[in-house]
Order: sequence, then C-alpha cells, then structure tokens
Amino acid sequence: MTSTPNVQRLQAVRAPQHDRAFANKLVEMLAIPAFVLDADCKVIIWNRACERLTGVPAAEVVGTSDHWRSFYDEARPTLADLVILDRADEIHRLYPRVPPHHPDGQLCAESWCDMPRGGRRRYLASDASPIFDDDGKLEAVVQTLRDVTDEKAAQDALEKLATRDGLTGLANRRRFDDTIKAEWARALRQQQPLSLLMVDVDNFKAYNDANGHVGGDECLKRIATAVASEMRANDLVARYGGEEFAVILPNQSLKGAAIVAERVRGRVERLQLPNGQVPGQHVTVSIGAATAIVAPGTEPAQLVNTADGALYRAKHMGRNRISLPLAESV
Ligand code: GH3
Ligand code: MG
Ligand code: MG
Repeated sequence: MTSTPNVQRLQAVRAPQHDRAFANKLVEMLAIPAFVLDADCKVIIWNRACERLTGVPAAEVVGTSDHWRSFYDEARPTLADLVILDRADEIHRLYPRVPPHHPDGQLCAESWCDMPRGGRRRYLASDASPIFDDDGKLEAVVQTLRDVTDEKAAQDALEKLATRDGLTGLANRRRFDDTIKAEWARALRQQQPLSLLMVDVDNFKAYNDANGHVGGDECLKRIATAVASEMRANDLVARYGGEEFAVILPNQSLKGAAIVAERVRGRVERLQLPNGQVPGQHVTVSIGAATAIVAPGTEPAQLVNTADGALYRAKHMGRNRISLPLAESV
C-alpha cells in the first residue's frame, strides 16, 4: 500500500527524531551551552556552545567524569551530578542562589564559576533535567548553562545603590535595620552576645555653621572612613541618621564593645579635624555602647534604645567620651 503524501511527510519529520544520532546533533548545535551525563556521571555530549563557554574541547571531556574541572578549581558535583546521584538536598550547600523548586526532578541554580580554562570567572544559571527511558529508568541528565554575569553585575549594582549611603559609602539605614534583625536571630540561635555602638558627632551643627554644609559633608566622610577602619570583617558600620553612625558588633561582649568604642573615639580625635570655632579644638564623637544577651520574645529596638540612652549620658557628661548602660545587658 502506498502512503498518502501527508503520512510520508509525517514519517519524514518523525523518523529522525527517534534517531539518537539526530538527537545528539541537535544538542550539539544548540546555541545554548549544554552537556549531557549518562547514569554513571560520564560525559556523553559536550556541545559546541559549551566548548566556547568553557574553553574545553569536547574531545577532552567526553567519556570522562572530569566535567567539573571546566567550571571549578576544586572537585565538586555539578547540578547534573546531583540529579544522577539523587543528592538534590545538597543544592543549598553548593549553590548560593536556588530559584523555587521545579517539577519532574529538574534542578535549577546559580553560582559563580571559576572557569579555569575559560580564562574568566562567570556567573552561570544552570538547569539540569533528567531523561528517563521507556521503563522510567534514569538514562541521562542534560545540563544547560546561561552566562548571566552581566545581569548579576547590574543586579549587584542596584542592590548596592539600595543599601549604601550616598555620601559616605557606608551601609544605609535600611541595611542596618535588615542586618540587626538577622544578627538578632543569629545571636538567639547561637546563644551569643550582640553589641551595638551609637556614634554621634559632637556639636556638629556648630561645625556646619562655621564650615558650611559642603565642609560638613567632607567631615562626615572622613569620620565614616575612620570608624569603618576600626572594624572586623563581620562588624557592620552604618550611617544611622544625619551625623550619627551605628556599629553592629556580632558576638561581642560589653567589655569588648567598650574597647572598640574607645578605639573609635580616639581614632576620630586623632584625625585632628579643626572644629572651626575654637582654635586648637578638634572634631570629636560621643559613643553609647550596649550589649544584648538575646532571649526569645525580645526585639532589636531594645538594644538600640539602650545604646541611645548610653549615648545621651555620654553627651550629658561632656561629650568626646564613651558611655555604657547602667545594667550589664538589655
Ligand atoms: P550634639 O553634640 O548634641 O550631638 O550636637 P549637634 O550639633 O551635633 O546635634 P544637632 O542634632 O543639634 O545637630 C546635628 C547637625 O548635623 C544638624 C544638621 O544640619 C547636621 N547634619 C545632619 N546631616 C548632615 C549632612 O548630611 N551633612 C551636613 N553637612 N550636615 C548634616
Ligand atoms: Mg551630634
Ligand atoms: Mg545627632
């Protein structure tokens, strides 16, 4: 029996789709970088776009389990490996950003890749999708990669704009509020103390009057740099308000916080910024310190209030000094 032209056309279209060689070619020629692993985590396809992205030719990697070397300096599973090895629960440990869960055993994640052979560090968004045979047995996993380095840089720049103070470059109030909440929760979880310094420039209104607003801005920048230079990696210095800075000191006792406060006070004094009113007198700061032994049901606002109270006393006692709360903790 001869087939109708329509059936012939259908067969002509269908036949190659069932052909493994055709499927391989299809992946091979995709403009999107992709590689395929078999059920033993061995590379069976490494397409041209993947060669261009990684700088690693297919001939070097096909038939091996060395694909990780194209992306990382140290041995670790790729997303496709996690699917094959049924280790999806490790995704959050290995990838900093994991979009919401996808159906059908597919995994998606974003991360920086060192690309040792690609010659540049890139931020890649990856998807790994399992391929099952007719009996539902895992046959292979295809991982596609998108280079989203530029989008990531734009997003980071926006985030920086939203969380940095424009004048001093320090964290802004919004970032302070988010950080103190996060540190509060961490201090509660890890049963560690959390300290806070409130730093306020002394008689700054008079400084502005004597030096003009632009001179005042310059002075604030110098003080911001001086305060920030006294911090450890996990501390956060923020511009809390006009001429007021807040310093979050995670896992720091009141005694430790007092030492940091005194260092900051001395550092600003040593800048020897003339206050513009009395010859020989310099710009100074007053600092209130407080420490919380965080307990359930307490709020960061209590720590801010206690440090504010201590700052008020430092002002009252004559400025250019540090002050601690009357009680040991909030
Ligand atoms: P005290 O020692 O009690 O803190 O006195 P003070 O004069 O520093 O305090 P006050 O609150 O009376 O004045 C704060 C001044 O800080 C007034 C305000 O014009 C100035 N200020 C706030 N933000 C800025 C800013 O971004 N740039 C400049 N140049 N001045 C600012
Ligand atoms: Mg002031
Ligand atoms: Mg003030």
